[in-house]
Amino acid sequence: MVRTSENDICALCFQRAKLIRSHLIPSAVYKICRAPGANNQNPLMVTDDRAVQTSAQLQIPLLCNQCEDSLNKRGERKIIPLLARSAQDFPMLEALKRTRPSVLDHDLAAFELRKIRDFPVDELIHFAIGMYWKASVHSWNSRTALPRVELGAPCFSVRDAVRAKNLRRFVLGDGPLPEDITLSILLQPRPLIAFHLPFEVRGEPDDRTFLLYVPGLSFILSVGPGVSGFMRLYSLSGPLGVALVTDTTEAHRQRFRDALKTARVAPQLREKLGIARQQLESKPST
Ligand SMILES: [Zn+2]
Repeated sequence: MVRTSENDICALCFQRAKLIRSHLIPSAVYKICRAPGANNQNPLMVTDDRAVQTSAQLQIPLLCNQCEDSLNKRGERKIIPLLARSAQDFPMLEALKRTRPSVLDHDLAAFELRKIRDFPVDELIHFAIGMYWKASVHSWNSRTALPRVELGAPCFSVRDAVRAKNLRRFVLGDGPLPEDITLSILLQPRPLIAFHLPFEVRGEPDDRTFLLYVPGLSFILSVGPGVSGFMRLYSLSGPLGVALVTDTTEAHRQRFRDALKTARVAPQLREKLGIARQQLESKPST
């Protein structure tokens, strides 16, 4: 049964309503990340400073029923089936392999998704931006009131206030993505079946970068006026809807590995992630 909180303000439409418990990462992603057959089948969730294997899902009363349903329809419903279940079962990558990349250079391939018939580009963008937006309007952490990521707060500057307003309008379906936000996507041919909550990679005041990962897909969000025209052109949110396929798995593994050192992880899951004991104990390669 859906638990509700009565007479609160929906963070998206600002209407007073019964709020339902929204997930920062869609519950279907938790389901994909479960490890059947492991002693502990719970999904591996990585934050910027820890890894936990838990059945608890990050959820809070945030949205009214209508807005929650809108997020499902605008992105999640079409994208969840395309996420990786394993290296052999990655529907989005398979769909790209049936087409020709616009750029193929050694271990990098670029695909123009807008040219692929019926490819849900707008849903893909909305899926990622929806998670980033949720992370920007709540801490999702009982230990702090600060938002999980800072994409623009009304109290910081006029530019931040405008960005926050326009980002909310985009998530509502009432406007375009703010001009100083660029979303890029990397598909991982050797996907880790886990997820990483949105976090800030680099903290420059005018050129900020954020990352989140769901099985097979890294979404990189660049915020600020410093994003180059070239990067915009080769981004998912640019006019071509570019997706890059490149194996950055080792960098991902290193990040997960660092977090895993402090986490309790089922041996079967550790094996599934391909993390050998000696790798865990070796120094990170540079
Ligand atoms: Zn609402």
